[in-house]
Amino acid sequence: MTIRTRILVVGAGPVGVVAAYRLAQAGIDTILLEANPDCPEDMRASTFHPPSLEMMAELGILHELEAIGLKAPVYQYRNRRSGNRVELDLGELADVTPYPYRLQCEQFKLSRLLSARLDSHPHAQVFFQRRVLNIEQDATGVTVHVESPLAIEQYRADYVIAADGANSTIRKWLGIEFEGFTYPERFLTLSSAYPIEQDIAGLAHVNYVADAQEWCVLLRVPGLWRVLVPTEDADDDRLLLSDAKKNRVFGGLLGEGVEVETYHRTLYRVHQRVAQNFRKGRVMLAGDAAHLNNPLGGFGMNSGIHDAWNLTDKLFSIILDGAEADPLLDRYERQRRTITRQFVQAQTISNKQMLEAPQAAGKTVQEEKLEKLAADADQRRDYMMRQAMILSLREEAAIA
Ligand SMILES: Cc1cc2nc3c(=O)[nH]c(=O)nc-3n(C[C@H](O)[C@H](O)[C@H](O)COP(=O)(O)OP(=O)(O)OC[C@H]3O[C@@H](n4cnc5c(N)ncnc54)[C@H](O)[C@@H]3O)c2cc1C
Repeated sequence: MTIRTRILVVGAGPVGVVAAYRLAQAGIDTILLEANPDCPEDMRASTFHPPSLEMMAELGILHELEAIGLKAPVYQYRNRRSGNRVELDLGELADVTPYPYRLQCEQFKLSRLLSARLDSHPHAQVFFQRRVLNIEQDATGVTVHVESPLAIEQYRADYVIAADGANSTIRKWLGIEFEGFTYPERFLTLSSAYPIEQDIAGLAHVNYVADAQEWCVLLRVPGLWRVLVPTEDADDDRLLLSDAKKNRVFGGLLGEGVEVETYHRTLYRVHQRVAQNFRKGRVMLAGDAAHLNNPLGGFGMNSGIHDAWNLTDKLFSIILDGAEADPLLDRYERQRRTITRQFVQAQTISNKQMLEAPQAAGKTVQEEKLEKLAADADQRRDYMMRQAMILSLREEAAIA
């Protein structure tokens, strides 16, 4: 038996659930497939930028997310050695966005919220424990073979959105190259309920701490601090996830002997990669399936949500208004791939370079640049508009 739908979305991460929910809300029959038995609680994205918050408001879920998140209007860069800091306040952008702050809220909360809503939606079906094995397409649709706990199932859809993450099976089936590079170091994230703000004066909810030896990011989410540090790849996982390593990281931040218990400890390999194509026929890549970047700036999930938004706009025109598909889907690829390469990749690489910049005496060159920029109202505004991803969406709209 073949299960038929208009749109099949693969992957119930933040990108897949946003795409599926928006389509279902527009009255388009959509099936969402997810390999895992649920949306796992992992320590990846936890920052929503203002344009993504506008999208969440349009989906009607912003209040729910805000109730389980933390508003962070201010973020800061700090020199780990000198303690010198530069603060930027998104409140200054209140004239261009109704949400002039970052919302600190873990990505699994969005995935769980929307997959639960989809489950009872008249235009949607959600199936967990469904792993896509392969796909084939012809002139009229896409056939997808899926492994469930008991059988191999077959689905048929007009279009498929591949939001199946970094190791996308669909991208591999389509033979699309994933160009770019992988950093030699891995990133270790530790989360703890320890009140770090009581030991380090003046922290914001989002802090980028620069140091040539061990830069770090300190992010607050409700009930937890998340600490992200680079690690030597040569060390084995057991060492990197050990109490000794955890004590070294927190000892370096808070002083020796402070007892900190962790809630999560996770190692991530980090890449800068962009798929050569975001579309092949009736199958479109979105989110991590299409692009990967380091997490410095919080652009991965947000740019994936922006892919989902752009692509669902195009599918509305095709399915609801009868517009010709190829020009619109090609435009999706042109717009989102250009923004990914020119903004997301370039900015995340530069954000990392800033954190690890070598220090001579006193301030780094990057720190001095940032201080100058923060002291100039026009430059500061431009910088915040860029880091808040407001400019990238304006630039996207201008791409024909
Ligand atoms: C340490 C760290 C911190 C980060 N912080 C931020 C941040 O603050 N802000 C930000 O914007 N981004 C951040 N990111 C990036 C962000 O986590 C990702 O960009 C985001 O998860 C991408 O979402 P996605 O839905 O495309 O993919 P995923 O979240 O990876 O979801 C893909 C889903 O597809 C499912 N799947 C895979 N294969 C199949 C298959 N064959 N069949 C069915 N289902 C399948 C998977 O099980 C998974 O549920 C961070 C990443 C890391 C590693």
